[in-house]
Amino acid sequence: MNRQHYTIQKIAALLPALESTIVEDLEVEHLVIDSRRLINPDASLFFALQGHRDGHQFISDAYNNGVRSFVVSDRAYTTRYVDANYLLVADVLRALQQLSAHNRSLYDLKVIGITGSNGKTIVKEWLYQLLANDFNVVKSPKSFNSQIGVALSLWEIDQAHDLGIIEAGISRPGEMAVLEAMIRPGIGVLTNIGEAHAEGFFTMEEKLLEKLKLFKDVVVFVYSPAYTTGIPEAQLPGKRKFSWSFNSKADLQVISCETKDHRTLLTAIVKGKKVSCMLPFSDKASLENAVICWATLIAMGYDVAVAASRLNGLMMVGMRLELKNGINQCSIIDDSYSADISSLAIALDFLNLQNQHERKTVILSDLFETGRSKAALYAEIADLLAQKQIKHLIGIGPDLSAHKHLLPGDSKFYPNTVAFLEDLPNLHFQNESILVKGARVFEFERISKRLTQKVHDTVLEIDLSALANNLQFYRAKLKPGVKVMAMVKAFSYGSGSFEIANVLQYHKVDYLAVAYTDEGIALRRAGIKLPIMVMSPEPAAFDAIVCYQLEPEIYSLEILEQFNAFMENNAGTFPVHLKIDTGMHRLGFEEGDIETLLNALQRTKRIKVRSIFSHLVASDDAVHDAFTRQQLEVFNEIAGRISAAVGYEPLKHIANTAGITRVPDAQLDMVRVGIGLYGFDAALKNNRGLQTVARLKTTVTQVRQVKANESVGYSRRGVMPQDGSIATVKIGYADGYSRMFGNGVGRMLVNGTAVPTIGSICMDMCMLDVTGLDVKTGDEVVVFDDVLTIEMLAEQIQTIPYEILTNISQRVKRVYFYE
Ligand SMILES: *Cc1c(COP(=O)(O)O)cnc(C)c1O
Repeated sequence: MNRQHYTIQKIAALLPALESTIVEDLEVEHLVIDSRRLINPDASLFFALQGHRDGHQFISDAYNNGVRSFVVSDRAYTTRYVDANYLLVADVLRALQQLSAHNRSLYDLKVIGITGSNGKTIVKEWLYQLLANDFNVVKSPKSFNSQIGVALSLWEIDQAHDLGIIEAGISRPGEMAVLEAMIRPGIGVLTNIGEAHAEGFFTMEEKLLEKLKLFKDVVVFVYSPAYTTGIPEAQLPGKRKFSWSFNSKADLQVISCETKDHRTLLTAIVKGKKVSCMLPFSDKASLENAVICWATLIAMGYDVAVAASRLNGLMMVGMRLELKNGINQCSIIDDSYSADISSLAIALDFLNLQNQHERKTVILSDLFETGRSKAALYAEIADLLAQKQIKHLIGIGPDLSAHKHLLPGDSKFYPNTVAFLEDLPNLHFQNESILVKGARVFEFERISKRLTQKVHDTVLEIDLSALANNLQFYRAKLKPGVKVMAMVKAFSYGSGSFEIANVLQYHKVDYLAVAYTDEGIALRRAGIKLPIMVMSPEPAAFDAIVCYQLEPEIYSLEILEQFNAFMENNAGTFPVHLKIDTGMHRLGFEEGDIETLLNALQRTKRIKVRSIFSHLVASDDAVHDAFTRQQLEVFNEIAGRISAAVGYEPLKHIANTAGITRVPDAQLDMVRVGIGLYGFDAALKNNRGLQTVARLKTTVTQVRQVKANESVGYSRRGVMPQDGSIATVKIGYADGYSRMFGNGVGRMLVNGTAVPTIGSICMDMCMLDVTGLDVKTGDEVVVFDDVLTIEMLAEQIQTIPYEILTNISQRVKRVYFYE
């Protein structure tokens, strides 16, 4: 037994708990914070964390899923279930951290602690790739680097490990000291320091000093002087220091980078000697991350040349689950990230959140875990599959085949990937969601390639985790009990249909809203069960509205009469939403309509007013605050009259995204969040706190040399300012890249450098002036992302982010990521 043995009794004493109720002294193997993400519920201890939402609310969910042990801070919950164990503590997060810190303290292993603004996760994964042959490594899963993530990572340490690679991230001052006390790294790696405000700091120095707290007691400190400006070397941490740099003197000083065919020959001077290494990338961020890894290996005592030769084999890490359209109407979830049991649990959850197909299939390779027997590992995998109700498994590899008897009945097994690919034509995958998850040696990318539709070269990448994060951001701003309606009209602001709705449903928003009946029908057909409001319900679609249980917005006496007349022939009552015009002057009942409306409502038995709502016209702008107040007053007055007349209290709502933050009084019973989910909020400076959801990328089709004064494109509008080169890229106005971006107004990022358009934008293509840059056919071009933002594009052509996003045409393929 490699793992330290923990029981509830022992943990109660360790914390120590203020009070404990132990009905059965269960063993604890897993610490869980999400009632939906369970591996082995009997052996799980649930921590009711006080986050955006109160974790105590999820105790019943966890209990229903089989968990019987809970750490709580609210005494009222300790008597909820008679057959459950409770540990009462003052602070649940603190308890989680104490327990993990204790586990860490039992082992005398070497620990590399990594922090910085960017690159932490990549550096961690690469150090793992570089060191896994020499050590038994325990590392943070995915980007688990927060106050919670670090605790969960440290809990995994056991006797078998002799190296830990743990990343630490912070969101506000004061947090790093807590992480340091838990991680206690011996080797410290600082990746870099980016913009201060992005992480809740006022100055760069304040931020740097906070990050350096992680390295308080390290023996070796790996850093670049470029990121420690302002701090004298003597004040840097570490008994030994090892510096790296691209442009100044350092222990590892890069003196040249030559890029050819996406590979880079990097030459550096280390200890007075020139050494080169070949890296399989060319982008700036990857080169820097690779140099950090090189420096770390040298600082750990590796021979400079040996370390250099290992870098040669580094592989890009795809850290995210990818959801793509597959062949024969399948949805393919591609998880090439890692192949351990905790990431399998996450991937299965994501598979289960897909409602668009009834049938779900898992294609899984043998997994490799240290410190555990195969029998135990496959028993656990079998449990996990059973718990996630996976009935169709395709197992690839000798180990899975050898444990057939444990696995679902309707499974197929293949000795290796090639055997599976040979049999693929006989398997007839159709209309199902398929998770493809394999350890690297199995080369499952060959499988995903065969199962997915060819993605065209212009792709809109949607980060579903960022969307979920943005939802939580707004939830945290709501007063208790306020409901959330998520606006998914116009193909979720251009981002997608059921792909977005599945995530919103999983995260339990209360309502969805679409513009047209068709959009609502598409969501119902994809298995979305949430209530859906339709804002423009055309009378011809009333039948479909009733049939698909959509809920119409009623915005005029005329449409009310039409709906009433339609409902005469239907049994029962039907929910509707009344729209009041308080100043937008778009749709809705006006003050003068209200008497007639009340009469009409009292006459009909077939209509149930589910909600009354209005829309703020300028919630993001302080200049119009008086008008906003007035809208709110008018609304409250009218909504009060309607409630009194119908004799019950429909939900009342008026706030959109910007209203949530700026006008808390307007939250009422529900808010309608739209653009904020997608990462924009005019009421927040620099969208602080929100994450980028959409990235639009395309590729270079051709590069050519053009002489000075020659013209480029239609009508000779572009003129070459000097001899130089032009790259033609695969995006045009038919893809949603407006003609207004032509002639140097718009910019795109080519290998990280912003370059202007030249000439007019064509229907399917446009041209960029890439003079002086090393650009080749096939290179990736960023149209917008988190650096070149949609807001910048909106500013260039004097519009708003909403329009840029929703203009991306449907022929541009969407690919979804989930972390
Ligand atoms: C689109 C829409 C919203 C969402 O507005 P955002 O500014 O995107 O948050 C809210 N309410 C109504 C009626 C809408 O049409």
